[in-house]
Amino acid sequence: MYMSMTRLGTYLFPDSAQSGGAASSSQAAGRERPDGSDPLPRVVIIGGGFGGLYAARSLKRAPVRVILIDRRNFHLFQPLLYQVATGGLSPANIAAPLRSILRRQKNAIVLMGEMVDLDPLKRRVILRDSEVDYDFLIIASGSQTGYFGHDEWQRLAPGLKTIEDATRIRGRLLSAFEAAERDPDPAHVAALLTFVIVGGGPTGVELAGAVAEIANHTLKHDFRRINPADARILLVERSERILESYPPDLAKAAERSLARLGVTVRTRTSIVAIAPGEIAVESDGRTERIPAETVLWAAGVTASPLGRVLHERTGAQLARGGKVVVNPDLTIPGHPEILVIGDLAHVEQNSKSLPGVAPVAMQQGRYAARLIRNRLRGRPTPPFVYHDRGSMATIGRAAAVADLTWVRFSGFVAWLIWLFVHLMYLVQFANRLLVLLQWAYNYFTRNRPARLITEISHSERESEAAADHPPVPRPPEV
Ligand SMILES: Cc1cc2nc3c(=O)[nH]c(=O)nc-3n(C[C@H](O)[C@H](O)[C@H](O)COP(=O)(O)OP(=O)(O)OC[C@H]3O[C@@H](n4cnc5c(N)ncnc54)[C@H](O)[C@@H]3O)c2cc1C
Repeated sequence: MYMSMTRLGTYLFPDSAQSGGAASSSQAAGRERPDGSDPLPRVVIIGGGFGGLYAARSLKRAPVRVILIDRRNFHLFQPLLYQVATGGLSPANIAAPLRSILRRQKNAIVLMGEMVDLDPLKRRVILRDSEVDYDFLIIASGSQTGYFGHDEWQRLAPGLKTIEDATRIRGRLLSAFEAAERDPDPAHVAALLTFVIVGGGPTGVELAGAVAEIANHTLKHDFRRINPADARILLVERSERILESYPPDLAKAAERSLARLGVTVRTRTSIVAIAPGEIAVESDGRTERIPAETVLWAAGVTASPLGRVLHERTGAQLARGGKVVVNPDLTIPGHPEILVIGDLAHVEQNSKSLPGVAPVAMQQGRYAARLIRNRLRGRPTPPFVYHDRGSMATIGRAAAVADLTWVRFSGFVAWLIWLFVHLMYLVQFANRLLVLLQWAYNYFTRNRPARLITEISHSERESEAAADHPPVPRPPEV
């Protein structure tokens, strides 16, 4: 554990005494340290997700000290979270310890800690229990699930952003089938077997497809009283169509694949209320109540709270969703030493804001590293330009849609491309191998071996929810 409010200095890099003069050109940028430590410029990176990790790795040969700080000790491959949530993969398959990823990068150290504040005048990051000085700061703290001002829905409709979210969703999905198996009331069984996924973006589509696979195939022979295939899976989307950011023909193909799996897609439908065991939706001005015990939230994200910290401490502007408006070189106005990248940054290109996707974060991470290297050499860096190589989403076992910008695919071919791309971008070789084997096994057996309920049971959750939302008091009897 860290000492309280320790300023983390020289001892972070034990070799600093010998290597302090390794890069004379860089020393100008490194500040005199009050503790007399290593003068190499110190690049502090907040967040070991796609943006932060790619920035750290791209600084491998730069004459700098890299300090990567994350509140978790691992890098998480979020695009495969839905597979953990639906029992196809285990958490460790899609996460890798940051220390292990950077173990050979001698100019980098990893600290587990949470940034809570910033002192831009002293160039100091304030962690929950210590402080770190920087010469350059890259903030890549990503985003979190957003409920459009309805934070009270969070407990009833979990979002999918962290490993804990994924195991919580997995627990809820599977406990609903367990509870249905022992419930004598057919109406309640129907509610238990109704799964509502809110949000028809790629995450909602992938979740809906995987839930349908579980109901129709994985659990087919597991129960005696209920037929899991009776499950009703609703994908609710408030706009005109699902996969809005995809070309309409691919969105149509995705809708057809979902229909084949038994998913009901409800577009132009908004959620207006969520209560234990029931949701209310509004479409064409009509409100409808749907009994449903499991509601999953895939409708939106909002920027990391560090955006607000930056706004308060530096005056940086915030855009929609709390993203930080950055200069074309990803620095914030008035602070050429602070860069914001990934889901937290608001960057416009061709009058459109860049999407919150992994390739944007990765390219921005590499760019941030290049900008710092150039700065140290006194060279300019042209503005950041995002190269869009396309997007893709899977629907169940062997179908996907892929828009590679110059060509589009749907169905099995798109699925193969999806598999290949996701394997390639998994961070460690061991994970790539394990996921490949696991996928092959899941494909041929239609099994999902990681379907463990590690969260509280359905009945425990019901009593918790009842305590949170007590029934309306009845008038006293006379
Ligand atoms: C379920 C899901 C599916 C997705 N699917 C796809 C997909 O198929 N394709 C695609 O391109 N993109 C996908 N995305 C989006 C993609 O994962 C993000 O755009 C990408 O992760 C953004 O990278 P980032 O570096 O900005 O943030 P992240 O990767 O989220 O990393 C942020 C890091 O910062 C750390 N952190 C946060 N706050 C602090 C703090 N105060 N102090 C210290 N550390 C902190 C976090 O622990 C985390 O490690 C998906 C996202 C989700 C949630």
